[in-house]
Amino acid sequence: MSTDSDAADADAQGDSAGDGDALPGEYDPAAVEPRWQDRWVDEGTYEYDGDADVDPNTVYSIDTPPPTVSGSLHMGHLYAHTLQDFTARYHRMAREHTFFPFGYDDNGIASERLTEQELGIRHQDYTRREFQEKCREVCADYEAEFTEEMQSLAMSIDWTNTYKTIEPRVQRISQLSFVDLYEQGREYRQRAPTIWCPDCETAISQVEQEDKDKHTLFNDIAFDLVETGDGEDEPDEDATFTISTTRPELLPACVSVFVHPDDDENQHLVGGTARVPIFGQEVPIIADERVDMETGSGVVMSCTFGDQTDIEWYQAHDLPLRIAIDESGTMTDLAGDYQGMSTEEAREAIIEDLDDAGALVESRDHDHTVQVHERCETEVEYLVTEQWYVEMLDRTDDYLEAGREMEWYPEKMFTRYQHWIEGLEWDWCISRQRDSGIPIPVWYCEECGETIMAEKEDLPVDPLSDDPPVDSCPACGGSDFRPEEDVFDTWATSSLTPLINAGWDWDAESEAFTMEHPELYQFDLRPQGHDIISFWLFHTVVKCYEHTGEVPFENVMINGHVLDENREKMSSSKGNVVLPEEVMAEYPVDAIRFWSASASVGDDFPYKEGDLEAGERLLQKIWNASRLIDQLTPAPEAVEAPAEEDLAAVDRWILAELDDAVASLTEQFEAYEFSKARNELRSFFWNTFCDDYLEIAKQRLSDGGDPSTEYALVTAHRTFLKLFAPFLPHVTEELWQRLYADGEGSTDPGDELNSVHTTDWPETRGYDADLDAGERAMEVIAALRRYKTDTGLPLNADLDRVRVYGGVAGFENAIAEAMHVDSLETLDEAPDVSTEVTGVDLDYSLVGPEYGSEVGDIDAAIESGEFEEVDGKLQVAGVELDAEMYEIEEARTYSGEGEMIETENAVVIVG
Ligand SMILES: [Zn+2]
Ligand SMILES: [Zn+2]
Repeated sequence: MSTDSDAADADAQGDSAGDGDALPGEYDPAAVEPRWQDRWVDEGTYEYDGDADVDPNTVYSIDTPPPTVSGSLHMGHLYAHTLQDFTARYHRMAREHTFFPFGYDDNGIASERLTEQELGIRHQDYTRREFQEKCREVCADYEAEFTEEMQSLAMSIDWTNTYKTIEPRVQRISQLSFVDLYEQGREYRQRAPTIWCPDCETAISQVEQEDKDKHTLFNDIAFDLVETGDGEDEPDEDATFTISTTRPELLPACVSVFVHPDDDENQHLVGGTARVPIFGQEVPIIADERVDMETGSGVVMSCTFGDQTDIEWYQAHDLPLRIAIDESGTMTDLAGDYQGMSTEEAREAIIEDLDDAGALVESRDHDHTVQVHERCETEVEYLVTEQWYVEMLDRTDDYLEAGREMEWYPEKMFTRYQHWIEGLEWDWCISRQRDSGIPIPVWYCEECGETIMAEKEDLPVDPLSDDPPVDSCPACGGSDFRPEEDVFDTWATSSLTPLINAGWDWDAESEAFTMEHPELYQFDLRPQGHDIISFWLFHTVVKCYEHTGEVPFENVMINGHVLDENREKMSSSKGNVVLPEEVMAEYPVDAIRFWSASASVGDDFPYKEGDLEAGERLLQKIWNASRLIDQLTPAPEAVEAPAEEDLAAVDRWILAELDDAVASLTEQFEAYEFSKARNELRSFFWNTFCDDYLEIAKQRLSDGGDPSTEYALVTAHRTFLKLFAPFLPHVTEELWQRLYADGEGSTDPGDELNSVHTTDWPETRGYDADLDAGERAMEVIAALRRYKTDTGLPLNADLDRVRVYGGVAGFENAIAEAMHVDSLETLDEAPDVSTEVTGVDLDYSLVGPEYGSEVGDIDAAIESGEFEEVDGKLQVAGVELDAEMYEIEEARTYSGEGEMIETENAVVIVG
């Protein structure tokens, strides 16, 4: 479609209207956008205005994701938050109250690592308090920058409802949650094998470990057989068997050898004893079905601990612990000569020494998958440590059911939640051996180890500086207490965001949990990325379900990721990262938002400059159309709805089309189908309204006022501004303020703002029209316009006689007026048209392979007209071609009076 051939553009350019209020010819987003962003924040346009007394059904509440403070805003943030903003803006117009808060997740390993990098320090060199201070300072800078960027993206966030996960109010909620779960019997502390990151030097939970492909060596190592399985025959002096391992540094931690019960070849070993090379400890040989017979020799060693199977064996066979690796990934004294080495160093040294001792049978290259910590990509270890756990494995069915109670957008994302729960193998380890986190509110009796929980009314507490709530131990009477030094996992707190947002608290007087904003809970929407379904969504469901007995959300909207233009993941190592500030420097925010609406929710999608440019053109198009409408119509307050019978057919038609669009967009916004809404709205506005209707309206109004058309134009225009408002908040606000907001000069900061964003979402008005007839009439008008252009006639030239075939009943006058037709007739029968076959278009990609050398004959036969179509097949040169192999070319000739123009659904004869 051409942008410069229609009325909206042509008439608006270079036309300086006489009065000072006329819209400027060009829309200037660089000046307009920041002006509105500041004004909205200054005026608190998006502040939540509900309270505990309002009907919860009138409130739309969003549990916004608090970004982890780990660096700057990236395209993923920009996209995800923009989607949330579409929803917030739509619902703010469609409902009475909308709650769109914001938070920062600024405790935990991510922000600690940021602080260490930023300041070039190590947390080990500071006291906890000092290091926490450093983290706050670094995070505060990043948060201020982030807030500014979110405001520059026109996020309609309520900046009076914000939180930081490290602030005292949130610490209280996090600790309340811990105490409540403990009192419910849902938490326990246990010394047991734990997933451990030797780089971060802390326990982590299952969700924080991820797969990574790694290249390594697979080593076949000879173990001496000390005693055979049957116990009768002494084994030969030099009897050995082979085990294969990628981790020979675990040899000092070896506690047993396992053989599968179905492994006939190695069955004689079972019940015997083996000696570990170099280290010399003797270990039992045991049968167990968990052995993978396909890998290596089928005989495996079990150590403290190489993987999760080792932990299962340790528990199932009551094996001893041999701890050869410490918290920092360093070999312990159990490793003898290798003590003090890193696991990597020990691995190399031990392989060399095994070779020297003749115990290394073979080393070969091997690719395998290891488990790493997702924050630092360090291979995890499994260490025996004392940690706090939330019990989960006993209730996975409940959590799955809870997931089913929510509506998922898109629906397919539920399976990710389901798969995560089905693969869950650990309870949730929530204690971390780190600094910048919320303290676990517990002390232990030095005498008997009794756990002393903080009192709920005292929270938040820091056991390192606060006293326990008792003077003497309730179990033994002892008076010495040891504070818990660990802090919570960051997800233990961020999983409480619905409760943080709703103001959950403990009321000591009534001894009950309360909510400051019960009307917000359960939340209408949890928007988030698909990569944190297992982290954030699952843990939020667990926590909220245990605290309130309810699922926290009615709807879950899962956004995809932004890829580069070639649909590759953006990463700094590939150098294909697009930065939001670069995009924002070049394009209007409204255009960026137009691109953000282009993908279906849940799909990963590419960054496309073409979409941004299309967005920019749309902004100018909206501006130009608005300018034309402003010029054509009197002041909006002077425009009144005409009586039903005074409404012209074409005006009734556009209002009925508008009703259709309103109904359809409302449905799409309710179902989070932003890309459908965007495409339908753009095409309706650009094609139907600007290209078709506006042309006619201009024609009708150019000779003086027409109340029917004035009303339809202004009504449609106001409606368009509202429908576009969630996508394009700046240009719609600018136009709304200039044309429709109450009060003079309301773009001045001094006046109270009647923002388009706080008006009501449009409703259908109940206009009825034959939409098909209207659309056919538009085709006819477009065809006549083309005819005039093609024949060099001015658009306002008179046409003597036009005949139309194709139902346009009721629109005859509209066509005649718009195209200056003196006499317009409608035909009941199609004009006589003769059809002549002129040739055949072959699809050689199909015909070639099938007929090979015969293709020449087929071509020749077609050329000389020797072919016939019979029953949908082409008989030619003695063969029969299937329908998909050819297309008959035809010429249609009208031999009657005048010139025939065919459109998709109508035939027009001029003259
Ligand atoms: Zn780590
Ligand atoms: Zn005690």
